[in-house]
Amino acid sequence: MQREPPCNALTALETQVRDDLARTSHPNARWLEPKPGPDARPALDVLIVGAGQSGLATAFGLMRSQVTNILTIDKAEEGEEGPWLSYARMHTLRSPKHFTGPDLDIPSLTYQSWHEARFGKQGWQNLALIPRHLWAEYLLWFRRVAGLNVRNGCELLEIAPAADGLVAATVESAGVVETLHARKIVLATGQEAMGNWSVPESLRHLPTRLLARTSDQIDFEALAGKKVAVIGAGATAFDNAATALEAGAAEMHLLCRRAEIQLVQPYVWLTFRGFLRHFSDLDDAWRWRFMRAILELREGFPQATYDRCARFANFHLHEGSPVEAAKELGNEVELQTPRGTLTADFVICGTGTHIDFAERRELRNFADNIATWADRYQPPENERSAHLGRYPYLADDYALTERVPGQTPWISNIHLFAFASTMSFGPSGSSINAMTTATPKLVYGLTRGLFRADLERHWGSFKAYDVPQAVIARAKQAVDERG
Ligand SMILES: Cc1cc2nc3c(=O)[nH]c(=O)nc-3n(C[C@H](O)[C@H](O)[C@H](O)COP(=O)(O)OP(=O)(O)OC[C@H]3O[C@@H](n4cnc5c(N)ncnc54)[C@H](O)[C@@H]3O)c2cc1C
Repeated sequence: MQREPPCNALTALETQVRDDLARTSHPNARWLEPKPGPDARPALDVLIVGAGQSGLATAFGLMRSQVTNILTIDKAEEGEEGPWLSYARMHTLRSPKHFTGPDLDIPSLTYQSWHEARFGKQGWQNLALIPRHLWAEYLLWFRRVAGLNVRNGCELLEIAPAADGLVAATVESAGVVETLHARKIVLATGQEAMGNWSVPESLRHLPTRLLARTSDQIDFEALAGKKVAVIGAGATAFDNAATALEAGAAEMHLLCRRAEIQLVQPYVWLTFRGFLRHFSDLDDAWRWRFMRAILELREGFPQATYDRCARFANFHLHEGSPVEAAKELGNEVELQTPRGTLTADFVICGTGTHIDFAERRELRNFADNIATWADRYQPPENERSAHLGRYPYLADDYALTERVPGQTPWISNIHLFAFASTMSFGPSGSSINAMTTATPKLVYGLTRGLFRADLERHWGSFKAYDVPQAVIARAKQAVDERG
């Protein structure tokens, strides 16, 4: 149990944050003017969809760049954004505690500073990994002290083009539908931003009373005494297996597709500034080669994640066991694998996400014109991957690009900061390790676009600029010269 020091430590930290932000606010001159929307109201400069860590970090980066006419929305209620308090079923984050996140290198805004203010320096020293509920709490604190404007309970339904280069976002809050106009939209909508959570083909016909995905709400208590199969062998699959075992599952079978389970964590290897910062500068051949190798390896799991399952004698790991077919047999499911069949009372799919733009309501107006990697790059025979070819091919400012140029040019004002950005940019906000390098790159792209679009105004403003910096006493000087 962590001991909390007096709350004045947190108050002092918040004072420190304000001071740090003020000391590093240069250049703080306003440089944007609101553009009127078709409804005569000022359009937002940037609408950020998603107030998880990615959306918050983006909003913070924009505010630091004096892009303040922004709004962040999230369909979830305050405190319920992202996976942390819902379908994340690990006790602690998997990433090391010293990985910094949305603080964008302001020391007083780091998780460590917040943790020390809450639990003392010794509390930080004693901490092995960050409990996930504390990460969620920290994100809420961050949002408050950074002064970010978030509208919760507000869902983006649709994006369409609007007059004067604006984009129109149809949003719904508490049953009320309205249109928000913005110059740019950032989609920070999480792991499934460009598709959905996956169910392998062989299991799709099963009813929901027998099958769930790890992203679903699962009644684990109801699994007590039951035979459960988890499909997949990444960290999330193990977390779900452990949760079921801890709830009293009678048997737990974890089915791993590969011949040998993945033990290496490629995200540990790639966590260095050179890769995180400059991966996106590489040509397509190198980006494809690296990301295909990394994403097809998938993520390994930490020791503690495995141990949480392995301590149960009724935990069974089946390697080389992709599910080839599944049959509903009354209240059971029979799963057929190359190594034989097994039956389960309930199946949980921990098989990650897939990309399918058409599955996302907000993308439907232009889903068929979003360029994919398959549209833009043909890998050599031995590096082909249909799955990875479906990832969006993003511009250097994280913007969507057109499959057929000229059909939906306005989508260059929709920027994607989510897991699906990974093929183009490497890890982003969808993994804590990259936030400190990826967020500034996104913000740079956004401010570049806003600046360039206003060039005429800036030129006019410069030409009209007539504020003297000094006063010269001309009359006196002339008299002196004459005399
Ligand atoms: C189970 C799990 C465990 C993880 N553990 C770790 C870890 O330990 N370390 C690590 O580095 N990474 C981890 N990750 C990866 C990553 O850090 C998280 O997925 C993180 O939540 C990504 O942040 P995000 O802001 O990109 O997305 P999210 O946190 O998912 O936030 C996206 C937000 O967008 C909102 N949204 C979506 N669609 C709409 C819409 N149409 N309108 C309005 N709002 C919308 C959602 O409500 C959500 O709040 C984990 C991921 C998962 C799934």
